[in-house]
Amino acid sequence: MKNFEKPYLNFPSTMDTADVDIDGDKSLHTFFSSYVFLFCFSNSQRVAEGPEPRNYDYFKYHNMSEISGWMEQLQKENQGVVTIVRYGQTYEEQIIKLLKIGLASTEKKKAIWMDCGIHAREWISPAFCQYFVKQILDTYKKDEKIGEMLKNMDLYVTPVLNMDGYVYSWFNQSTRLWRKSRSPGNCGDSCMGTDLNRNFDANWGSVGISRKCCSEVYNGATVLSESEAQAVTDFVKARSSEILCFLTIHSYSQLILVPYGHPNITAPNYDELVSLTPEKDRKDRDKSDSEKGREDRKD
Ligand SMILES: [Zn+2]
Repeated sequence: MKNFEKPYLNFPSTMDTADVDIDGDKSLHTFFSSYVFLFCFSNSQRVAEGPEPRNYDYFKYHNMSEISGWMEQLQKENQGVVTIVRYGQTYEEQIIKLLKIGLASTEKKKAIWMDCGIHAREWISPAFCQYFVKQILDTYKKDEKIGEMLKNMDLYVTPVLNMDGYVYSWFNQSTRLWRKSRSPGNCGDSCMGTDLNRNFDANWGSVGISRKCCSEVYNGATVLSESEAQAVTDFVKARSSEILCFLTIHSYSQLILVPYGHPNITAPNYDELVSLTPEKDRKDRDKSDSEKGREDRKD
């Protein structure tokens, strides 16, 4: 097991210098500065106390079994706040789980979706989700804003979506950089796996993809052919009126990506989304980024 350097996962008490990523990649930092941390961590301090599984080391990578155990323990230690929701199955029949985090309310609540680990080899992504959950649970009783947020909103956090791929990436050195799911391809070759991030019903098969099973960005035999993508779709569709924000966490490229990653189709609130990003990152904003397509950047 390879420990990562502590400084990469040290959230400071202010947002200005937060750095959540590895390999010099600032995209997660900027992404979360914009969408989550500004209101979540503005007053938080890194503290060891608070409800969390004892002895769980947030400064190293954990395998799937450890992460599953961590989820169970969190639920046990935070009853009424943390609930495990099982919402689908992987190709290899592992149960996909998320943590629902929120405080009871008589009002109808809104929600934020966050998934990590859709690309197996991006280990910092699940590590980030775990640390994010820890920070929320550490601070909601002390920080009024976080407490208020949990009263008005639920967080749906999937620490590892591509569980099969993640387990495979832990197998040995030769599998460490596995990215896709573990379902067999349909190209008549021996190549396996679909890029789950490119299997959703959002301009499926149009830009930044490959139809070759051996490609890292193979988009699957059909739209939503992968049970993992289908599970997310079903869960979110059933709650479309409550979900305010959908975040998916990656660790590659110096990019903040907003819907829809297509040269001709822009989200209705594109300008608003961009306005939330820090000025320095906005300078780099360039619609041509999406025009280039996604083949070359493998986010
Ligand atoms: Zn990725």
